[in-house]
This record gives sequence, structure tokens and C-alpha cells, in this order.
Amino acid sequence: MTDPRTAQAPAILWFRSDLRLADNPALSAAIESGRPVVPLFVLDDDTPGAWAPGGAQRWWLHQSLEALSETLQRHEASLVLRTGNAAEVLPQVAQETGAAAVYWNRLYEPWANARDAEIKADLKQRGVQVESFNARLLFEPWTPKTGSGQPYKVFTPFWKALQKLAPPPAPLPAPATVPTGPTIKSDRLADWGLLPGTPKAKEPDWAGGLRAHWTPGEQGARERLNAFLDTWLPHYDETRNRPDKPGTSRMSPHLHFGEIGPRQIWAAVQHRMDARNDAQNAATAYLQEIGWREFSYHLLYWWPSLPEETWKDNFKRFPWADDPDGLRAWQRGITGYPIVDAGMRELYRTGWMHNRVRMIVGSFLVKDLLIHWREGEAWFWDTLVDADLASNAASWQWIAGCGADAAPYFRIFNPVTQGQKFDPEGAYVRHWVPEIARLPDKYLHAPWTAPDRVLADARVRLGTTYPQPIVDHKAARQRALDAFQQIKQG
Ligand code: FAD
Repeated sequence: MTDPRTAQAPAILWFRSDLRLADNPALSAAIESGRPVVPLFVLDDDTPGAWAPGGAQRWWLHQSLEALSETLQRHEASLVLRTGNAAEVLPQVAQETGAAAVYWNRLYEPWANARDAEIKADLKQRGVQVESFNARLLFEPWTPKTGSGQPYKVFTPFWKALQKLAPPPAPLPAPATVPTGPTIKSDRLADWGLLPGTPKAKEPDWAGGLRAHWTPGEQGARERLNAFLDTWLPHYDETRNRPDKPGTSRMSPHLHFGEIGPRQIWAAVQHRMDARNDAQNAATAYLQEIGWREFSYHLLYWWPSLPEETWKDNFKRFPWADDPDGLRAWQRGITGYPIVDAGMRELYRTGWMHNRVRMIVGSFLVKDLLIHWREGEAWFWDTLVDADLASNAASWQWIAGCGADAAPYFRIFNPVTQGQKFDPEGAYVRHWVPEIARLPDKYLHAPWTAPDRVLADARVRLGTTYPQPIVDHKAARQRALDAFQQIKQG
């Protein structure tokens, strides 16, 4: 064991949601300390049950750790994997390695804030230095404050305030080498059972669609960002609402796992803006979406109960329906509304869904079916590769009309007109709902309006090959508005 009092005592770099080498301030600081580095990842078993990573996240985590481990090996360092309660694992690894310091990048989930503060205090008491950094956000979530020193509840002034701050620091380069610390025992990633279809996971391999769509890891993130910047960024303001086009960046899972940081994206987009005059509006619109991510973290920081509790008090009395059949039809993508079913199937197959369609399926669940937004939040948590406590909770509360700066409750998306507007040629629906692909465009988003002859020609038998709509949208809309009337006061 190394003597912790010497400069050669190692530093532990505790990787968490920052699975990258570039723009990783904790890693850079660990290396700058001149100590050998022990890279560590802990599969925590102390996350509150409901927020343990869902199936899609576990799949991604496996791939991302594999990629990180390979990258570290190329830098002649080995990633140490441990399971357990982080509050116990950290001091134990510090003792095993004789570490004099631990470096990490901050998390902002409420349980992690409290736990990390305890770990920090405990390590310091043991004489181990601890330093933490921000790698996850452009700015710390507590930084922007209103003139009266309060947190923001509305996005636009929040975004304006953010833009008035000094620009985010330039991203740090990836280190050329990671000085190797002592070798200690590590779990085998394969034994963690994160992948479906392995004996330990005890579930069939449902991840084929995920494998086909994603390349987790720092390099995959970089390549996807560059492809987006080259091809789609200049058109982002026009195409970002079109699920039939690959017009958005699909950075969300890479950002969630920290394979890329928002400061890297910010800098890369600024660079393109400087180079191309025609991309200004599009780039501004894109950066604003990164701003929504910051806003979600701001809300979660100030209202830590956001993922569990309805933000607006009057919505706590909302007469939500108990409708397990409706919920199951929504989850499986068999509601009879093609754009809703396409979205839910895209989600199940690929672990991702286009933002416009997330809004449509979200509105359908909470307004057409009157099912509690927390059911939607939970399903997304389990199935999204980008499932993120802050963005998921803030977005579900937004769509349900009960969150901060939320869509007004009476704004109820019409799944037929939304489909016609944002998937006008029907390419998205035809891809994900092939059983109605032969319908002409005119009837594709509302098959029940097609004459019998047209249905027969398209080989569609409603109620057999494709469901009848599970609710009548017009009646469901009125039911939702009536329910809203009940809680309007207060
Ligand atoms: P782009 O359009 O390329 O945007 C770039 C980045 O900006 C995204 O990667 C994301 O980090 C951020 N961003 C974009 N829109 C939003 C938004 N509305 N709120 C917060 N950040 C945003 N996003 C998640 O990352 N995790 C979630 O769990 C999540 N759940 C959602 C649930 C619902 C009901 C809704 C309506 C939206 C949810 N979103 C969530 C927000 C948004 O749909 C995704 O971030 C976006 O679709 C990701 O695709 P992209 O990377 O191609 O986005």
C-alpha cells in the first residue's frame, strides 16, 4: 500500500454520469495533482428503488462502461468496477489503494446531493482530500436567480439570464495519458447482468433495436454530434419538429451518461455559427434546447420533489382515471391512433422517441386517457435510453399542465392533426406501424375515417389487423376539460 502522506499516494477518479475523458474537470484535476490515478465506477445499490436505472439505461451503461474501459486502456489505465453502497465502497477503495484524494464531478439528483455530502465529510475525516466539479451542465443549477434572488419558474427569463452570464468555460481537452495507479481487484462487467438476454439478467434479449440504433461511448457521441452539425444543424429550426426526418441531434443519451458535456456541444455549435452565416437561427434554436435541459436541472435543484409530486397544488386534486387497459394499450402502441402508436413502438424498439411525438403521446396519456403523468414518467424511465430525472420529470409535468411554465391544460394535442402536420407524407407512421402502411396519405392518420373499400384495398381490417381508436378524441377532450374545471380554482 502507498503511504497517503506522500505525493505518490494515488487519487481516485470516481466516474459517475461523466463517462468521458475530454472536458472532464475532475479527471483533469486528478491528473494535475501529479498523483497516479485509480479510475473507479461504482454500480450503486443505494439509489431509491423507483429511480434505479431502467432496462434501457442499464443496456446503455454496459456499453458505455465497455467503451470507457477500452479508452482508458489505450491510455494505459484500468477502470476498476465495484458494486455496493457508494458510501462504503469509496472509503474501502481509498484504503485498499492508499489514496490521498478523491475527485468527482457533481450529480444533481436529490438523493445523490445528500449522499455525496456525507461521503465527502467521511473521507475528509479519514484524511482523504475530496474535490468535486461541474461537468454536467453549462452552469450550476443554482446560479441563475431572479432580480429578487428567487429561482426561475418560467423558461424565457431563465434563458435570458443564462445568456447574460459569462460564456461557459471552454471545454478541456482529453488528457494525453492517465498516470496509472495501483492495480486492485475489479468486478467483471459481464457479471453485472446489465444486458438483457444474459443468464444473470433473467430476461430475453430485447435490445436488438437498441444495438442497431446507437453507438454508446465518447467516440460514438463525438461522431454523432459531428454528423448532426455537418448535415442537420443548419436546418434545425425547420426540421426539429419532423419525426419523419433525422433532423435532431440525438445527443440526449450521450449527454445523460456524460459521454459528451454541454460545454463541448456549446463550443462546437458556436464554432459552426462563426463559420456559417446561414446557420445562425438554427443554431440559436438548438442551443435553446440545451437551455431547456439546464432549466429542468434548475427546477429539480430548487424543487427536489419534482419527479414525485405534482408541482401545482390544485392538480393534486385532479380526478385521474384508473385505466390499466388504456395504459397497456398506450405502452404497447395499440391505441388505434397511428402517430401515438408509432411513437410508442419507436420508443420500445430503439429506446428513444422524437420530442414532438413525446409531446403527442404524453398529451394522449394524461388528457385523452386521463392517466396520471407519473405512469408516463415511469414507463419512459424504464424504456428511454436518455431517461433523465430532471428532463423527464419536468417534461411530464409540462405536458400534464401541472409543472413550472407548463403547457396550459386546455391545450390538448389532437393526434390526427398533429400527425398530418408533422408527418405529412406518413413516412414515420408507415415505418413504425407497417400494418397500415398501404393506406393512402389522406386516411393514414385516421384509418377509421377511410371508406370500407379503401381499407380493403390496403388490407386493413380495423379491430383485427389494427385497433379501432380506444377513445373518441373529441369526447375524451371534453372529458379532460370537464375534469380540469373541477380543479381550476385553487
Ligand atoms: P435535440 O432536439 O437535438 O436537442 C438537443 C438536446 O437538448 C437534447 O439532447 C436534450 O439534452 C436537450 N433537450 C431538447 N429538448 C429538451 C426538453 N424539452 N427538455 C429538456 N432538454 C431538452 N429528455 C431527456 O434527455 N431525458 C428524458 O427523460 C426526457 N423525457 C421527456 C419526456 C417527455 C414527456 C417529453 C415531452 C420530453 C422529454 N425529454 C427528455 C425532452 C426531449 O424530448 C429530449 O431531450 C429530446 O427529444 C432528445 O432528442 P435529441 O437529443 O435529438 O434532441
